[in-house]
Amino acid sequence: MKNLIAHLENSATVFLATHVNPDGDALGALLAMARALQTSGRDIVMYNESPIPAVYRFLPGIDQIAREVPSPFDFEAVVVLDCGDLERVGAVADLIPGRAKIINIDHHVTNTGFGHYRLVDPTASSSTEIVYRILKAMDITIDRAMATSIYTGILTDTGSFRFANTNSRAFEICAEMVGCGVNPYMVAQHVYGTYSLGRIKLLNMALDSIEISPNGKLSLMTLTHAMFAETDTQPEDVDGMINYAKRIEDVRVAALIMENANGHATAANGHKRYHVSLRSDGSVDVARIAASFGGGGHFNAAGFGLDGSLSELKGLIYTIASTL
Ligand code: AMP
Ligand code: MN
Ligand code: MN
Repeated sequence: MKNLIAHLENSATVFLATHVNPDGDALGALLAMARALQTSGRDIVMYNESPIPAVYRFLPGIDQIAREVPSPFDFEAVVVLDCGDLERVGAVADLIPGRAKIINIDHHVTNTGFGHYRLVDPTASSSTEIVYRILKAMDITIDRAMATSIYTGILTDTGSFRFANTNSRAFEICAEMVGCGVNPYMVAQHVYGTYSLGRIKLLNMALDSIEISPNGKLSLMTLTHAMFAETDTQPEDVDGMINYAKRIEDVRVAALIMENANGHATAANGHKRYHVSLRSDGSVDVARIAASFGGGGHFNAAGFGLDGSLSELKGLIYTIASTL
């Protein structure tokens, strides 16, 4: 941590990036870290490859997140947040010059240990919790804007203090953030109380799609391009839906297969790109399962990408069921 902070403090220009299809933790960690560096006089550029989900557009500073990679790419530090591997930032991973000093701040158990400086703690509730620790170590005064980002990151990554990563520090930090001016009701209203009608209709289709494996231990939810088109929704609107499939009695692993929203086949044989999300009831390590398909994540929440046909993918998911 000392070397990491020394490098941050010695860097006048900092590029900060987080994973594609960002969640509240990715954005909270990005915004809090960037603002802390900005208020202490550094030139920063925040980057994310994907559009910002509507429910997070209230976060202070969110409009400053760029989707274009700066050219020339010349920064003294590159901070990568909430990414288990560098490729999770998207195409920009290939554009980061070899000489750039990369700082890896993360809490995924599958973190590959990339970068020159690392603060990876799988016991942390969230990457935002780790950013909080760094801010404290740097003696940064946490203002209301930073506090809102930190609070939102912890709130969303713990599933509102319900998931297994909920720890005492999550409560302590959030209580402190409320003391810094965060309004919990306002945050909850933005994150959970402003869904589009299309999102609710999509939820209806998602619930209707649930299938259970013959042994009852795996549930499968499927979201196709046609469902997104019919409800005028995006992949960001799927956030959290898999938890309904996980709540079913006797289910140990819930899987969600999501067709990429553009619906284009990626190959001449009609194969399409899918994202698969996995959630466990705590008895199965889904990070290990996801890693065997080239993805990663946490013990209870993981994911991977795959090309194929829907029927092939379903068959593959059911082979997981037979191992449970
Ligand atoms: P998701 O199912 O997309 O909500 O992701 C659950 C967890 O798995 C998150 O912590 C993600 O960062 C991680 N994850 C999802 N997809 C991938 C992937 N393709 N590679 C590595 N980690 C992933
Ligand atoms: Mn994340
Ligand atoms: Mn996270």
